[in-house]
Amino acid sequence: MRAVAVYPQSREVRIIDHPEPRLAQGSDVLARVLEVGICGTDREIARFEYGAPPPGDDHLVLGHESLTEVVEVGPEVRGLAPGDLAVPMVRRPCPVATCTPCRHGRADFCFTGEYEERGINRLHGYMTERIVDDARWFVRVPRTLRQLGVLVEPLTVAEKGIIQALETLRRFPWFAPEAVQRREHGVKAVVIGAGAVGLLGAMALRARGFEVWLWSLEPEGGPQASLVESFGARYRSTSGRPLADLALEIGRIGLIFEATGAAPVAFQAMPLLGPNGIFCLTGVPGRKGPIPIDAATIMKSLVLRNQLFLGTVNAGPDAFRAAVEDLGVFAEQWPHAIERVVSTRHALDEVPRALVEPPTGTKSVVRIG
Ligand SMILES: [Zn+2]
Ligand SMILES: [Zn+2]
Repeated sequence: MRAVAVYPQSREVRIIDHPEPRLAQGSDVLARVLEVGICGTDREIARFEYGAPPPGDDHLVLGHESLTEVVEVGPEVRGLAPGDLAVPMVRRPCPVATCTPCRHGRADFCFTGEYEERGINRLHGYMTERIVDDARWFVRVPRTLRQLGVLVEPLTVAEKGIIQALETLRRFPWFAPEAVQRREHGVKAVVIGAGAVGLLGAMALRARGFEVWLWSLEPEGGPQASLVESFGARYRSTSGRPLADLALEIGRIGLIFEATGAAPVAFQAMPLLGPNGIFCLTGVPGRKGPIPIDAATIMKSLVLRNQLFLGTVNAGPDAFRAAVEDLGVFAEQWPHAIERVVSTRHALDEVPRALVEPPTGTKSVVRIG
């Protein structure tokens, strides 16, 4: 069975022959991998900057964003049957008995850092033909999402941030959860970055009634801008323009959702957050030197304007379920926009090259099954 593997010691990325997985326990699921998304994390691992092979192995099979089809299930499996589409989650809990989040099924909030992640950290990933895992790590996906299911995992990043942001908005006695259902709370949100997480986050915010502006480098009037405008968000190019100028047309910004991982951009945007606002950071900055920031102004704003800064990583089962549901909503309401998020499809053989070439378009996907 073929797989894409990274060898950190010999600094190689290549197609390997990987052992065929088999059901080992009654609760196991054998699934055929249909598609796997490529993201910045995969590229970092392929540059040997990040990631770790399983203990005793010299290589790591890549891939954490996948869509699979169930082939066989163990006798104890309920709710999944051969032929079902399913997305496996990425992180597995740490073994530390006192890690409350992991013991409560929320390894995404693990505080020991001793968790494992498939395709990233000490567990082989999904860029292969078949996988086996315990049924509890799979989230079922309706058949109608065959073309879009590979976007579930990248969407969970945004979903977890939005779930946290909505929890925070509920602290206001005037913020009615029904207003989110009816999409009429009118909170203004700025999404920074038009990569996959930014675009999917902007769509998820639109689906929950936020007024959305998306700021990114690409020119206005271009294909990225038309994609953003097709789902009812407003696109503004940041190229050659201070972010403060872009904020003028919006008024009170209730949520800034940062999806670039660029620290200078994030800190330039912080003073633009309105009173009681939430600043949600999802991007991890690359290894660059320190940047100057006006710490006193940021601190003053945080205090005097009741602001909240929130970092979010990985995702729990709630975000996976929300992502599956939202993809269905996107497919129904904005089918052309969501279909355009997957920009390139590669064969497995092309992956070692695609990983080192500069990324093109929003989301590259490997077609396997
Ligand atoms: Zn990813
Ligand atoms: Zn833990």
